[in-house]
Amino acid sequence: MADNINELLKELNPAQLQAVQHPPQIPLQILAGPGSGKTKVLTMRIAHLITNCYHPPWSICAVTFTNKAANEMRERLVKLVGKDNTAQIRMGTFHALCCNFLRRYARYVGIEGNFTVCDADESKKIFAKLLKPHQERLKGRNLTLKEATVLSMISKLKAKGMTADDALAKVAEANARPAEERIRRRMERGANDNANLLEGDLGEIIAAIYKEYEKTLREANSLDFDDLLVFGVRMFAGHKKASAWCRHVLVDEYQDTNTTQYELMRHIAQASKCVTIVGDPDQSIYGWRSAEITNLANMQRDFPNTQQIYLETNYRSTASILAASMAIISQDKNRIQKTLNTSHPKGPLPVLRAFPMEQVEAGFIAAEIKRIIAFTGGMLTWSDFVVLLRYNAHSRVIEAALQKEGIPNRVLAGHKFFERMEVKDVLAYLQLIDNPAFVPAFTRVVNVPSRTVGEKTVAELLHRASQLKLPPLTVVERIVEGKIPDIKPPVKRKLSSFVDTLRDLRRYAHEGMSPTKLITALVDLVGYQEHLRKTQPDHESRWENVQELINFASEVENGMDAKAGRRMEDAAERAHEELWGDGLGEWDRDQVEEDGEGDTPLRHFLQASMLSTDTETPEDEKSKDKVTISTCHAAKGLEWAVVMIPAVEDGVFPSARSEDTEEERRLLYVACTRAQGLLYLTHATSRMIAGEQKPTDLSPFIAEVRGDHQTRGVFSEELPSLPGQDRTTICKVLGRPPPDETEVKRRVAEFTQTGRHPVWGMNAPFRDVPGVPHNGYAVPARYPGQQA
Ligand code: ATP
Ligand code: MG
Repeated sequence: MADNINELLKELNPAQLQAVQHPPQIPLQILAGPGSGKTKVLTMRIAHLITNCYHPPWSICAVTFTNKAANEMRERLVKLVGKDNTAQIRMGTFHALCCNFLRRYARYVGIEGNFTVCDADESKKIFAKLLKPHQERLKGRNLTLKEATVLSMISKLKAKGMTADDALAKVAEANARPAEERIRRRMERGANDNANLLEGDLGEIIAAIYKEYEKTLREANSLDFDDLLVFGVRMFAGHKKASAWCRHVLVDEYQDTNTTQYELMRHIAQASKCVTIVGDPDQSIYGWRSAEITNLANMQRDFPNTQQIYLETNYRSTASILAASMAIISQDKNRIQKTLNTSHPKGPLPVLRAFPMEQVEAGFIAAEIKRIIAFTGGMLTWSDFVVLLRYNAHSRVIEAALQKEGIPNRVLAGHKFFERMEVKDVLAYLQLIDNPAFVPAFTRVVNVPSRTVGEKTVAELLHRASQLKLPPLTVVERIVEGKIPDIKPPVKRKLSSFVDTLRDLRRYAHEGMSPTKLITALVDLVGYQEHLRKTQPDHESRWENVQELINFASEVENGMDAKAGRRMEDAAERAHEELWGDGLGEWDRDQVEEDGEGDTPLRHFLQASMLSTDTETPEDEKSKDKVTISTCHAAKGLEWAVVMIPAVEDGVFPSARSEDTEEERRLLYVACTRAQGLLYLTHATSRMIAGEQKPTDLSPFIAEVRGDHQTRGVFSEELPSLPGQDRTTICKVLGRPPPDETEVKRRVAEFTQTGRHPVWGMNAPFRDVPGVPHNGYAVPARYPGQQA
């Protein structure tokens, strides 16, 4: 084993080697840019501590930002120190580590070892109860307070290490000040400062609820997610025994730790004082979740001899990708400029392209993935590609485009669009309108939004329905009409709004109301946005998904999906035929002609939605060879051969919802630096927003890069010419052998027979599609890379 690791140490550069072999007892900060091997060094350092410094594996505590990162690190360590050793290392997120330790040392902090972790949904139910006695007072002051708001406020206090008693004391102190001083302080702090939470009536209510909430959880022997950290700190701080086992703490992605997490690290390491952290201030993207970049300085304060090592070589990306990424981050003028050298050749310039609308953009992404696969002759597979999104909601159009081209894909960190709770809720209502006998939809929404119809009542309704051999919805209607007498009046009352809503909606549908309007009416009638706000901490992005569903409905209605979509395909085929001869052939088109019978707009829409979900087969799951769709946040620390970032537009990068523009710029930087060989940034000049096609602008982050004479050339409209030098570079960066030439020829021939590329020939295929403006791209004589 020792030989194994010492052999691998030879692959490291001098700075990396120094970091791995740095004396264990001297606290160490490894600060470096993306792809410089921070995570690799951290992993090797763990192996080095075990193998060469004889630290028992169980005495090492390694903290990762996500469970996925922990699993990856574990896989690497198995190769370095073996399975048994790896199993003993205490590795995971701060939350997971605390949870494990609290199980053992729970009694030190006054809880039982069999505590239950309370999730956000449960917490909100508790808050709903606790808010009630305060409603009068809130109303009197013209204030509103929702469960989710209370949850996030209390979560913020906990992230700062503040207990309920601390909060009560703080409020008392603040409210004891004269009003003028309070106003002056508030002005100085600015509107968004968290300290504003703990002032005045609102502060008193929040602190009181916090106190009650703590009590409720304790009585239930339960901890919420934040409590895991808070109690973890308490355990390690108060009971040295708990931290005595720990000889070395290592933390990855340190720039994104919050105050409580820092305190935790400090206390775990209090006995040994042996700490290694790796981080990159330029990649700090969780300020909105209370991460504190000052934790770097805090560590130097609390661990006095802390030394720093900088890694300055990027091993991940081509020089061109690195240059473009640096050009983006360098526009942050307050940032400390750092060196990050490349270890790879230049490679093709990152692509920057505009498209008239998001469907064309998504179509390009799908087609370009296929072209790259073909022209690299199988050297790259689906799993080498990632599409990185700022918003979850954007995945719907991308998923659809990939599916249409038969590209297997998976959504990282999040459900597939049509599997999302909010999308399913809305669809369930529509299904019930279309087909009242559809029982799954009934059970899904009879109590959504909450009508306080309990599980027992639902069970009773279903039982009666089966007795009477009627759809449950009909039974419910009869109950409300008083036709089933032996039902208690409260149940009748609870169900009447449900029945009314569905009756109205069904009437609208029969009168031919479009799905777009139907969904809008539905969410309005049932108060769905309010329901999300009350029950979901991420209600904003969920509401965006509902809006996105409306956009989808609008596309289906406009025949975008069926008719114009087909027109686009036809036009693309014609252009393809002009360029390449044979297209798909007439019979294909004949077979897909609509027959229109019994097809209401609602049914058409439901069918379109249902078919979109029909993707994963067990075999796919096994092979795992899929294109990844992920948010930029969830991609942190990971890498892919090819990265595609759509919607590089103002309002998306930076997000219209964010208050921290620089954090948004760093997020785009993080996204770009995931790429090893090829990087694509695309944007649409118009996008469907809230059911309307609106013009959009290029992201200011990119506009600035292009406006700067030093960096304007870092992107190109040209697509990489793959069989040439570009492909050789990609092979080198990925460390893979070049593909077999006959295989390349075969795949290229296959692709050019069947592939339709919406960019080459963009003018031609889209020229006569209504709503697709002429976008000024010339038709190339041949595919890039194709032999003349
Ligand atoms: P990020 O900031 O994005 O988390 P990082 O600094 O943690 O990046 P790693 O993920 O550890 O970087 O490494 C990036 C890539 O570079 C990995 O594929 C890794 O195997 C490779 N790499 C790191 N150091 C070397 C080296 N000395 N020689 C060859 N490849 C290396
Ligand atoms: Mg890393």
